[in-house]
Amino acid sequence: MYQIKHYNGVIKLLLLKTETKNPKIHNSLIHLITFNTWSVIMCAESSDDNVAEKVGLNRFEEIQVMVDSEFNVEEGFVYHGAPTFYIKHQADSKQAFLRLMNQLEPLELVPTMQQSEQKVVLQILPKPPTKPSNPLINIALFFATLATVFYSGYMISETLTDALLFTVAIIAILGTHEMGHKLLADKHEVDATYPYFIPGTPPIGTFGALIQQKEIPPNKDALFDIGFTGPVTGFVIAVIVTIIGAQISQVVPYDPTIPVESINDVYPLIYRWIFQVIPLNREGIILAHPVAYAGWVGMIVTMLNLVPSGMFDGGHVARSVIGAKAHKIVSYIGIALLALTGWWPMAILALFFSAAKHPGPLDDVSELTTSRKIGAMLLVVIFVVSFVPTGISI
Ligand SMILES: [Zn+2]
Repeated sequence: MYQIKHYNGVIKLLLLKTETKNPKIHNSLIHLITFNTWSVIMCAESSDDNVAEKVGLNRFEEIQVMVDSEFNVEEGFVYHGAPTFYIKHQADSKQAFLRLMNQLEPLELVPTMQQSEQKVVLQILPKPPTKPSNPLINIALFFATLATVFYSGYMISETLTDALLFTVAIIAILGTHEMGHKLLADKHEVDATYPYFIPGTPPIGTFGALIQQKEIPPNKDALFDIGFTGPVTGFVIAVIVTIIGAQISQVVPYDPTIPVESINDVYPLIYRWIFQVIPLNREGIILAHPVAYAGWVGMIVTMLNLVPSGMFDGGHVARSVIGAKAHKIVSYIGIALLALTGWWPMAILALFFSAAKHPGPLDDVSELTTSRKIGAMLLVVIFVVSFVPTGISI
């Protein structure tokens, strides 16, 4: 969102690397599953006077009482119209921050907490207005995508039933991935839309799905949870779909006229493992069912989402686990990995979305819980077993 730096004895706000005197935040977060990103657009819109007007300078004392009730305040002052406090960060500060958020909610204000050298800076800003969503758009896009996925499924299927199964499989994988994000956003009271599915062309019939997240997560735990749950739920469904797809794949007697493709690098480890044990009757040639193809698509989507760069799901998780500085380095490692393994469009997109600084959570000081840090290892495992090192050949 912004960095806070000491400058000539006062605090200087840097917004998207551009110096500004306007600490009002305007943000729009978009998460796109195929491109797996939340884009963050922030700009300063209002003048100091506007901020002062919105926060209400006459409210400073009222706000100070609220902050005092939750934090050990060392110093309080108004900076560019925004009530600003140096506080002593304590074990309870993560919860105190959430309670302060609730107290400020009716005033349409939002707190931010940043580490600035030796100081922990708490600042109160106007809450950016959020535009209402129109669920009819979600519904219309959902049905349009059902149609395009069904058509794509029909192109690779022998029967309407197979096309229908393919459609259910693709929608289930994308839908559970997005709903994983959505449910955890709801749990942490972060305003987010329902999924928007994007119709596409064969062979898949969709460019993915996205949810729009309208608010910045309150703390690292929330940032982690929202980023973590989508890929995990999507991956679990992709594995189940692949197992079902393998199980219903036809096995025909060996026939030299049937072109056979060996299981190679185009298939992730987990996909190969499944096909090594299912179907049980392996006497002949396995004709992979369209549902298995849907599972493979789901694994690729999961893998790409988990690249730890920029605003990708893996990026959000990495940002919450290792902090801003290390995340910047890991972002570029992720981009290099994509480029070196042939995922050029994704690498370019990752580079684009890494250009903007990750906003981090509102409370960027309180630590992520240990269980979540351990949980991040699960994502590394999922990334490895879903990894396809030959993007260029797909
Ligand atoms: Zn996602």
